[in-house]
Amino acid sequence: MGLSTSVFRPTILRVASHPWARRTVTGTRPGRRVAFRFVAGETLAEAMAAARELHSRGLRTMLDHLGEHVETPKQALAAREAYLSALAAGADAEDVDAAISVKLTQLGLDVSVDACWANFEPIVQSAGEKDRLVMIDMESHGYVDRTLEVFARAYERSQHVGIAIQSYLRRSEADVFSLPEGCRVRLVKGAYLEPDDVVFTRKRDVDASYARLFATLLAREHAVDVATHDPTLIEGVRTRVDAFEYGWSRVEFQMLYGVRRDLQSRLAADGYPVRVYIPYGTEWYPYLTRRMAERPANVWFFISNLVRTSG
Ligand SMILES: Cc1cc2nc3c(=O)[nH]c(=O)nc-3n(C[C@H](O)[C@H](O)[C@H](O)COP(=O)(O)OP(=O)(O)OC[C@H]3O[C@@H](n4cnc5c(N)ncnc54)[C@H](O)[C@@H]3O)c2cc1C
Repeated sequence: MGLSTSVFRPTILRVASHPWARRTVTGTRPGRRVAFRFVAGETLAEAMAAARELHSRGLRTMLDHLGEHVETPKQALAAREAYLSALAAGADAEDVDAAISVKLTQLGLDVSVDACWANFEPIVQSAGEKDRLVMIDMESHGYVDRTLEVFARAYERSQHVGIAIQSYLRRSEADVFSLPEGCRVRLVKGAYLEPDDVVFTRKRDVDASYARLFATLLAREHAVDVATHDPTLIEGVRTRVDAFEYGWSRVEFQMLYGVRRDLQSRLAADGYPVRVYIPYGTEWYPYLTRRMAERPANVWFFISNLVRTSG
């Protein structure tokens, strides 16, 4: 979050939540053109093709079947089936190291923890059987307690499950002490529009929290996924982990599909473990709005395309 981002981010996220904004982006060619810089396609086959291409360049991958806040049991069931298919495709492809990442509101968390667990449990079981990793995304702050509860249940069943923790959330500094010992944690800054009393709003505070959380997680012997494109944080992690014997067996860099491809390739070429998060599916709009809000230049790119197309 640079200065311009922290000023524009709430505005972009608010404007993007209007139905007309959604129609303008999803129903026009410029909108789709911007979206497919960040989304690998609408099908699992397209996501696997992207995974193969990344793998050929030495990058690991993680598939995210897009969707969140489903409203019916049928939609949650469809999401579960999509994730089971993604797990199977990753396990069947010998040429790809593909994990999956799920959002619990896509599996029924808005209904109840039990409804969500009924859909998540088969995914956890399948991940164990196929020896694949399943990460749980962290969504907006109202879901944190329930997400941690589902994660704790899942981790009791299988250690193939990990959880995302957000450094912008003030509560994360306490949350990391209640995680199961040694579990895998993806550390992110946080992407949602949140009230000022629950998050740090200044970039330097979010970054300082990130550095502190990383140090705590490392000291507590968690496996840590450093999920950021921030060059300063990446450099700090690199220096610190290089000094640890076997440090890189517990730490991995992670970045988003279409973001800082140069940095992804450079780190992989230098021998560091890097995994790329590959979103795919038809429900790409909310994901795209978060990527636009992170970098106002993405919005200008969309607007200039729109003007050019309609001119
Ligand atoms: C693998 C992965 C998984 C994630 N999972 C979650 C999750 O579960 N929950 C959650 O809340 N958030 C998640 N995020 C998003 C995260 O919270 C941030 O919003 C996002 O990564 C941008 O922050 P940053 O750490 O890259 O730092 P920033 O300070 O925002 O950005 C640092 C630099 O990265 C580049 N950059 C960052 N974002 C973009 C972009 N959209 N387009 C172009 N360039 C960009 C720019 O060069 C920028 O200067 C995830 C991120 C990654 C990489």
